[in-house]
Amino acid sequence: ASLDRAARTYVAGHNGLVGGAVLRHLRSEGFTDLVTRTSRELDLRDREAVDRFFDSERPAVVVLAAARVGGILANSTRPAEFLSDNLRIQVNVLDAAARVGVERLLFLGSSCIYPKYAEQPIREDALLTGALEPTNDAYAIAKIAGVLHVQALRRQYGLPYVSAMPTNLYGPGDNFDPVGSHVLPGLMRRFSEAARDGAPSVVVWGSGTPRREFLHVDDLARACLHLLEHYDAPEPVNVGVGTDVSIAELARLVADVVGYQGAIEFDRSKPDGTPRKLLDVSRLHALGWEARIPLREGIEETYRWFRASLAEGA
Ligand code: GDP
Repeated sequence: ASLDRAARTYVAGHNGLVGGAVLRHLRSEGFTDLVTRTSRELDLRDREAVDRFFDSERPAVVVLAAARVGGILANSTRPAEFLSDNLRIQVNVLDAAARVGVERLLFLGSSCIYPKYAEQPIREDALLTGALEPTNDAYAIAKIAGVLHVQALRRQYGLPYVSAMPTNLYGPGDNFDPVGSHVLPGLMRRFSEAARDGAPSVVVWGSGTPRREFLHVDDLARACLHLLEHYDAPEPVNVGVGTDVSIAELARLVADVVGYQGAIEFDRSKPDGTPRKLLDVSRLHALGWEARIPLREGIEETYRWFRASLAEGA
């Protein structure tokens, strides 16, 4: 069923990578009553503030893209924040949505909810079949609780809320912090600075052998609307491209795009994380959706955005 473009739609987390892309996509698709709040205006960890917001705004549709996120180092060094902040954001928003009668809601999780040694490509039913990857177990447990919370609201109150599990994401609006970011923006920053400075070598964390799948966030945004319009079942839906690359291959690709020609070194004292994380996307394909943006093109476009944002900041 297609969503009413005039329905009041709240995008939680619109200043983040995912929420920003979702907001742009909904706008371009003709949604006319989009509601947003910055984290300063509304701290989603604050139960009473969230209740007041839902009571006054009464959204009909919610995309829950607000979360505390970070790369492998941030996750492994600040697990308490990743657990507590994400649990509170989700519980507050999901409870309030159910209470005021939000009609459609999409909860965004992450592919790290699956067991570390899940069979590849990872199907949705691998959830809760094995131990988690320890570098992001706190974040994963919070996101698993969110999936269960959505399922519980469906079971207990019959609410048509759904969950999507995106693979590793990248794109404009990402966090390019050298330490706290994910691998793609982290490498983009490091390689572009090395190219600018003529540095002889760049360090890549870990062994270079882990494999990851990368989805452009604009593709995810299209998938989010597609799921809101065409999916209504308790199981989460994986969102990915269906192919992966090794971190070493990714590093060469990023080096190529930013014009870095020096050496690449691997720092094995940094964690590799899970060896492989490729999602099975057959459920999503059966719903009539596929990713469109090829990795190299997506990296080139993200790099143009990154350079423009540096120029603005300068
Ligand atoms: P993950 O998918 O949850 O493990 O998250 P990341 O995107 O942070 O890391 C993916 C892989 O890239 C891991 O094996 C990292 O060790 C590796 N990696 C290599 N260089 C970097 C870097 O500069 N930053 C990050 N975050 N990861 C890197």
